[in-house]
Amino acid sequence: MASAAISSDVLARYEPVIGLEVHVQLLTATKIFCGCANRFGAEPNTNICPVCIGLPGALPVLNQKAVEFAVLASLALNCEVRERSVFARKNYFYPDSPKGYQISQFDKPLSEHGWIEVPTADGGTKKIGITRIHMEDDAGKSIHDGFADSATRTYVDLNRCGTPLIEIVSEPDIRTPEEAFEYLTRLKEILLYTGVSDCNMEEGSLRCDANVSVRPRGQEKFGTKAEVKNVNSFKFIRAALEYEIERQVEVIESGGKVVQETRLYNADQGRTYSMRSKEQAHDYRYFPEPDLPPLVVSPELLSETKKRMPELPEARRARMIAEYELSERDAYTLTASRAFADRFETAAKTARSPRRVANLLLSEVTGRLKALDLEVENSPVSMAGIVEAADLLEEGKISSKQLKQLFDICFETSEDFGPVYEREKPQQITDAGAIEKMIDEVIAANPKQVEQYRAGKKTMAGFFVGQVMRVSKGQANPGLLNELVTKKLEG
Ligand code: ADP
Ligand code: ZN
Ligand code: MG
Repeated sequence: MASAAISSDVLARYEPVIGLEVHVQLLTATKIFCGCANRFGAEPNTNICPVCIGLPGALPVLNQKAVEFAVLASLALNCEVRERSVFARKNYFYPDSPKGYQISQFDKPLSEHGWIEVPTADGGTKKIGITRIHMEDDAGKSIHDGFADSATRTYVDLNRCGTPLIEIVSEPDIRTPEEAFEYLTRLKEILLYTGVSDCNMEEGSLRCDANVSVRPRGQEKFGTKAEVKNVNSFKFIRAALEYEIERQVEVIESGGKVVQETRLYNADQGRTYSMRSKEQAHDYRYFPEPDLPPLVVSPELLSETKKRMPELPEARRARMIAEYELSERDAYTLTASRAFADRFETAAKTARSPRRVANLLLSEVTGRLKALDLEVENSPVSMAGIVEAADLLEEGKISSKQLKQLFDICFETSEDFGPVYEREKPQQITDAGAIEKMIDEVIAANPKQVEQYRAGKKTMAGFFVGQVMRVSKGQANPGLLNELVTKKLEG
């Protein structure tokens, strides 16, 4: 972990209070109020038009797809969607925002009163409230470095102007940096499952501002908060909060006052520092956007969105734990992304035993991938290959030892299971007489184990099966072997 945890001594005296504001870019084809493409990485200032750079007289038209995504995200986050929400101008001057204002929502946001459930330190769960979700347009970008004259100039790229955003504002319900980390992890996972955003923090499609204050334990009134901005990973947010909590307690205990301000986190130094004080806090002079009518979300759109709602991660894990007899940990592995979980389940359905597919994937594939530092997308053994292997195992056509050997080959030569199996066609001994002979040998060599079996320890049968498998170099037909071992031991 990048940071030192807060000392328990500090936490005994002070309680942190945290609220998060998360901006999420929506994955629409076009921008929120114009027809420009909504994409990252174009040549600077090529993906713009009079509307998104705010030329006088240009009029915005709301992108219906952005509304659908915002409603989908709202419902996935348990928010109540307002039937009529209102766009408002948030007025401020900044070089990357040529309109001179942001089109946002103010007193009538799209949705409110949601929550996300997070695990707590004591093994329980807790609901973190979501105050509101509103829609707005993104600003452009000031580029402070990367040019020969960057020491004296700042450049502006307006391509990002007009990218559709939702802002998700949490209640000040979060009490530890770890809870903040969990909240963000769950939030991102839910958003990814709904498909409204790629949540790519490096490209800025998910950005988080963290508000934090401390109060003496027992005090009801919240302390003065600082807002930490521009932190580009969840781990850094956790670390920044840990630092900030310690800092605020120190300020208070040395007789000072925490000032309301915006702070930046420096990941190299592991500390936050003041960017600007909010003393002269902005008056944004919000007023209803005159160029856009109120946004009406019809009951039809709501019910259609509910119908389209995918199974969300938490529910999916619970179902999969039951269906495939998984541990919680394994369920997390299989649901790490919706695409992966979908591919797994679609494939598993076609297998004789879906549980065996899950089992093979977890026992033979994920570990090998990890060892090779490969993503599951780059696995030489495909889902179909895993299903084929699982069926062969299920039918007793190969032993698990042979399967391991085949998988070893697959990962060595980067081939899928099918071709490797066809080529290697592991030998199988299906001659009962030959297998019986091997069993007799093993029985003769292990009188103590035979005695235990006959005294009632039936699980000893597994020992004999294992031994004969070894003697047969993994080639004994597993079904036949099981049957004959029992027969011999009983006989
Ligand atoms: P502002 O007016 O500064 O934008 P808001 O009341 O809109 O403040 O809250 C912004 C975010 O800060 C929300 O996520 C909220 O939960 C959180 N927040 C508000 N007050 C506090 C506080 N005293 N300590 C920590 N977080 C807070
Ligand atoms: Zn445009
Ligand atoms: Mg606010």
